[in-house]
Amino acid sequence: MNPLLDTAGLPKFADIRPEHVTPAIGELLANANDALDRATSDAVAADYDALSTVLDVATERLGRAWGAVSHLNAVADTPALRAAYTENLPKVTEFHTRMGADERLFAKYQAVQAGPGAARLSAARRKALTNALRDFVLSGAELRGAAKQRFAELQDAQAEAAQSFSEHVLDATDRFAYFATEAELDGVPDDVKSAARAAAQAEDRSSFKITLHFPSYFPVLQYGRNRALRETLYRAHVTRASELGDPAHDNSTLMRELLAMRQEEAQLLGFASYAEVSLVPKMATSVQQVRAFLVDLARRARAGAERDLAELREFARTELALDDLQAWDLAFVSERLKEQRYAFSDQEVKQYFTEPKVLDGLFRIIETLFEVTIRPDEAQVWHPSVRFYRIERASAGAVDGARTLVGQFYLDLYARPGKRPGAWMDEVRGRWARPDGRLQTPVANLVCNFAAPVEVDGKLRPALLTHDDVTTLFHEFGHGLHHLLTQVEDIGVAGISGVEWDAVELPSQFMENFCWEWDVLKHLSAHVDSGEPLPRELFERMLAAKNFHSGLATVRQVEFALTDMRLHAEPGCEADIQRVADEVRREVAVVPAPPFNRFLHSFSHIFAGGYSAGYYSYKWAEVLSADAWSAFEESAHNGSVLNVETGRRYRQSVLEVGGSRSAMDSFKAFRGREPSIDALLRHQGLLAASATSASAANVP
Ligand SMILES: [Zn+2]
Repeated sequence: MNPLLDTAGLPKFADIRPEHVTPAIGELLANANDALDRATSDAVAADYDALSTVLDVATERLGRAWGAVSHLNAVADTPALRAAYTENLPKVTEFHTRMGADERLFAKYQAVQAGPGAARLSAARRKALTNALRDFVLSGAELRGAAKQRFAELQDAQAEAAQSFSEHVLDATDRFAYFATEAELDGVPDDVKSAARAAAQAEDRSSFKITLHFPSYFPVLQYGRNRALRETLYRAHVTRASELGDPAHDNSTLMRELLAMRQEEAQLLGFASYAEVSLVPKMATSVQQVRAFLVDLARRARAGAERDLAELREFARTELALDDLQAWDLAFVSERLKEQRYAFSDQEVKQYFTEPKVLDGLFRIIETLFEVTIRPDEAQVWHPSVRFYRIERASAGAVDGARTLVGQFYLDLYARPGKRPGAWMDEVRGRWARPDGRLQTPVANLVCNFAAPVEVDGKLRPALLTHDDVTTLFHEFGHGLHHLLTQVEDIGVAGISGVEWDAVELPSQFMENFCWEWDVLKHLSAHVDSGEPLPRELFERMLAAKNFHSGLATVRQVEFALTDMRLHAEPGCEADIQRVADEVRREVAVVPAPPFNRFLHSFSHIFAGGYSAGYYSYKWAEVLSADAWSAFEESAHNGSVLNVETGRRYRQSVLEVGGSRSAMDSFKAFRGREPSIDALLRHQGLLAASATSASAANVP
């Protein structure tokens, strides 16, 4: 039996081999295609359950098998598995694209909505149906004839152009190398120098190879005392893939074409701009609202940002003898000032955060606030260090301590060869009252890339986490809880499914706040040798450093977001992209950028990622998460934010409902009002600077 075809229980991660992929995906795709044909034929009535029984069952099975393959490809990559993945990816994508624009299926769903049964559908099902119809329209299912053909051409051409854009950025990044002498790297940390020396040695050179990849480039800008080298690297970095670099990697034409194609696509769908199309499935309601939100945020952060810059200039002049602070000095001067002012290192802090203690503390918080228990469970895994847990809740009305299974999750914490960097939450399966009557509980993958435990003097020392690592762990658990604690039974809107893109980071960013609470941290920390909790005084310095130059960081994010929004909201502006970028810079930026700065040419988020006319989502979701958190601050007592009553309300109004209603409705159910920007400004130390400004208008 092919383990990928066995979708009755949990994935058979340990049994799946690369040679299983093509036959299994071939069979599941054929089944899904048959299901699509049947669902669109007269044999299946225009009825929610009938369609779900035929189509959802087949596509969910395909999704779960492909999910397992993609997951293994990300966490246990081998050449054979990668080849199998690459071979099947286009087939799976093609099926979903085709189904998403299938006119017959669209007509069938429209018939469900117009039919007599529609009034009897649950609210969650009505939402799932509305979402499905909306997505059909946005995928061009309403178009006919030449327009439909042109739409399909545009989709393919955009995918191709986006791919070329990314390749140019990658190639421009890869082609650059600077071979430095040891003297030129004065100030750069030893681990970065060792990596640079190894990279040079691999090419039979005795110097140090510095590249434009972040772990190589950024530490030199941050710590390198050699100003000329910083300038060289900065210039190379901000001109990547532009007309100022190698013409072979110049993205100028692709950017113009991509923007023009997106506008044409929007026009075919009957919208005034691509930005409008992008916002249809999002929480933000109009381009005007997003622009006003961003401009307002920039205005409120401006005074703080100007103070930050003045402080940097002053420090550069008096302490570092730099009279003309330039873009390539900012990271360096900022790091020196930070060191002088707060005097602590990541190295010092991480001695207090051992992985078992942190995980235990995190589980206690979840158990207390969300009224569940977490305990170890058994499942096949892909690596011996991966753990598996189950979340349970006291069964309704139980007197004998009976527990009900809520969900399960895999936890893969450590970096290792063959595992993609970064941290993420992924669905293994969603909560679903299946058409056959069984209730499927949700399962999640939680993946991080922390340094594994090492042996010291023959004894295994627990893994030590930096404070950033701890925050990352909490962040991913926020996504995990959104997926796992859902009570919705319709797979299309359970958990994070169907949640608006610009609201999906609410639960994750929300969890990060615990990592800045003294009452939480003192229970989460124990020095690896002495067992002492984090000293209060060290925590105070960390807290003070948290908002270091948050004004500058905010206006920078606003500059990116506003440029993105304007480029997609103003048809015709593709002819003069730099003008738009310059205008936004004049409007909101505080740090003058050199005229050769071409950051847009490597801005893959908006040209090749999913963030076109959506980069504002980062700040938008931060407003939501900060405001949600402030409810816990308000209900804190005796210094503890762990208020069970507030936790229950948050769980019931935000986490459990998933995508079954709009994010705004969920937020209002929890907060009793619309979100306000004040909590975010307060948490980032920016409120004082804007206290005199008008009250929050145009917040999401
Ligand atoms: Zn996230």
